[in-house]
Amino acid sequence: MANNEWLSEVRSMVGREYGRIYAWDEVNAAMIRQWCEVMGVENPLYTDEAYASDTEFGGLVAPPAMLQAWCLEGLHMNNYPPGSTDENPYGVLKMMEEQGYPAVVAVNSELTFDRYVKLGEKLYYTTLVKDIGEEKTTGLGTGFFVTLIMSFFSEKASGDEKVGELLFRVFKFKPAQRPEEKPAEKAAEKPVVKRPKPGISDDTRFFWEGCEAGELRIQHCKSCDSLQHLPAPVCIKCHSFDLDYQVVSGAGELYSFVVMHYPEVQPFDHPNPIGLIQLDEGVRLTAQLVGVKPGEIEIGQRLQVEFQTFDDELTLPLFRPVAS
Ligand code: ZN
Repeated sequence: MANNEWLSEVRSMVGREYGRIYAWDEVNAAMIRQWCEVMGVENPLYTDEAYASDTEFGGLVAPPAMLQAWCLEGLHMNNYPPGSTDENPYGVLKMMEEQGYPAVVAVNSELTFDRYVKLGEKLYYTTLVKDIGEEKTTGLGTGFFVTLIMSFFSEKASGDEKVGELLFRVFKFKPAQRPEEKPAEKAAEKPVVKRPKPGISDDTRFFWEGCEAGELRIQHCKSCDSLQHLPAPVCIKCHSFDLDYQVVSGAGELYSFVVMHYPEVQPFDHPNPIGLIQLDEGVRLTAQLVGVKPGEIEIGQRLQVEFQTFDDELTLPLFRPVAS
């Protein structure tokens, strides 16, 4: 397709409005409560019926920021309620992809609210292709800014009522070509990145001094004889300030783990396996795992601490698998 031809086809999509995507459920207290819990929102207008009924709203309302949540597809892609359109409002991005603009980055997301929505309302939204900009070159590459607007409505027998709007703008682009670096120059230019250092306080100094001495020291409460990690100013069990430490065996088992693949941040090795280790003495700590391939890590495997000094200045406890 000639250059101008596909572009004018793309541009002809500006102003196109896509059909409705319905909400699976009417606005309900359970979803509101769960959303507030996850987001840490404590406004009683959303969750306390007795409080909300005394306000101008006369009952619970949904947090405005939750608007988009009502019409989400759920766990599975494109699983929209019956009656929803099966047209894809992102078709314009697909067309650009076919013309050699494969990358996408979200630029703006602006939510606007017309009013609170109340329990029992049934919502849907429609999508408008609002604007496709001229081809532009940014630091990321060359491409187009595409603006979509999702308008949210509440179904009413007397005529549907708009309750809010979400503007969503993306940049669809060909990534900029970076000049090839010569390996020798690259190595010469690359600064030496050291391991990040811990913030050491009076509460934690014993731990780091222990690492330098080749000892795994765990904070101990002299009042109730319990161990705790991470170190704290008081005993989390009995609130005593009378704390010292005990040197533990450094033996334990793997309670959980993650393997960091990306981003590949210097100076760490990648993949970078990090374990949550349950020490035989009962407390858990987080540390890098060594001497094991990421694919062979197993929950419950026996581990033993060892100490390594990085950059001649930072000694860290690492854990290595041992035969059980
Ligand atoms: Zn205690």
